[in-house]
Amino acid sequence: MAKIEMKTPLVEMDGDEMTRILWALIKEKLLLPFVDLKTEYYDLGLKKRDETNDQVTIDSAEATKRLGVAVKCATITPNADRVKEYDLKEMWKSPNGTIRAILDGTVFRTPITVKGIEPCVKNWVQPITLARHAYGDVYKNVEIRVPGAGKAELVFTDENGTETRKLIQEFKGPGVVQGMHNLDASIESFARACFQFALDEKKELWFGTKDTISKTYDARFREIFETVYEADYRTKFEEEGITFFYTLIDDAVARIMKSKGGMIWACKNYDGDVMSDMVSSAFGSLAMMTSVLVSPSGVYEYEAAHGTVQRHYYKHLKGEETSTNPVATIFAWTGGLRKRGELDGLTDLVDFAGRLEKATLETIESGVMTRDLALITTLPKEQVVVKNTGDFIDAIAERM
Ligand code: NAP
Ligand code: MG
Repeated sequence: MAKIEMKTPLVEMDGDEMTRILWALIKEKLLLPFVDLKTEYYDLGLKKRDETNDQVTIDSAEATKRLGVAVKCATITPNADRVKEYDLKEMWKSPNGTIRAILDGTVFRTPITVKGIEPCVKNWVQPITLARHAYGDVYKNVEIRVPGAGKAELVFTDENGTETRKLIQEFKGPGVVQGMHNLDASIESFARACFQFALDEKKELWFGTKDTISKTYDARFREIFETVYEADYRTKFEEEGITFFYTLIDDAVARIMKSKGGMIWACKNYDGDVMSDMVSSAFGSLAMMTSVLVSPSGVYEYEAAHGTVQRHYYKHLKGEETSTNPVATIFAWTGGLRKRGELDGLTDLVDFAGRLEKATLETIESGVMTRDLALITTLPKEQVVVKNTGDFIDAIAERM
């Protein structure tokens, strides 16, 4: 069989631990037999990041800007234990944080739905994609523990030294106070990424804030979304027959719970943190969740939503059998290949991505799955066959 051709290489960001093992297996068994795979390879494994003083992470992000589409394996974000374990020169920053800062993007997470893994919320028949703003608010706050009586004020001093002041609270006794901020530029790029992604996916976009209470701060988010929509997206949305729906965050939550799903749900940073955990656990498993970083300039980085599955890796190192779910990592590859195919006009490559996703899902629907899914599946017990990591990938390869 002739292999499917590629034009522009994908940026390939290899990673750590169990997902690095999955990465190699997926390439060997599911991609290389079918596709004349072209990638520009960057090893973001912790050892290489340490050797290059993390330059390799920066290079991979720059390559993504240049080539347009990247596929990333999960990577270790070092903590004190990892510094010891890998004898690191420094506690390197989160690669995802570094890449996000360079690409200036928004992360979209979508559950992979499959028969036999049913959402806890029965009326959710289509996946809900969560778009989380990843800058500012409570994640970049400043806090003071107020020891006793006194006055707390909000002060802004402009470049000329002119002060604007507002009383926060006259404290009669102890308490707490907090300052938060966000930037118009960051909110705008968040809005653009959401509108662009909704157009790409041809799905409705929902956004909610608490602007009835936060009449300046949250209202700024609503205003920027409205301005960007009216200026650049309303016509395109109408052409595609999709809608942009703004409502209060609590109204959004209530409506989402009653909905059929299928929308893209844009959330402020904190709402996105909380709601993405709710949506992902309600849909079943982190191992069944795709994640893509979309920059406002139209650059895409696909990855799995989970980490490096350290516990399974240590078992693997001891020679014990593992049953690690590769689905999210496979979908990172298919997401990247499909986007590459669309950008380069390669229908064969787009079709291949669809076929590999179909083969993966049909394998699970036939009852062949990894342990994490076997624990939650609604398929009849006698139909379920639990496979180890390698055998599950082989089962998909056979179906391909
Ligand atoms: P994790 O790798 O997501 O795994 C946590 C647990 O979730 C696993 O122990 C496993 O449960 C289950 N799990 C996750 N993915 C699975 C899969 N594909 N198949 C089967 N089970 C799966 O999180 P972690 O162990 O907290 O973090 C490990 C490392 O990943 C850390 O160093 C962290 O920095 C890094 N991390 C990276 C990213 C990223 O690169 N995007 C994201 C998050 C974390 P059982 O053990 O019960 O089977
Ligand atoms: Mg969280």
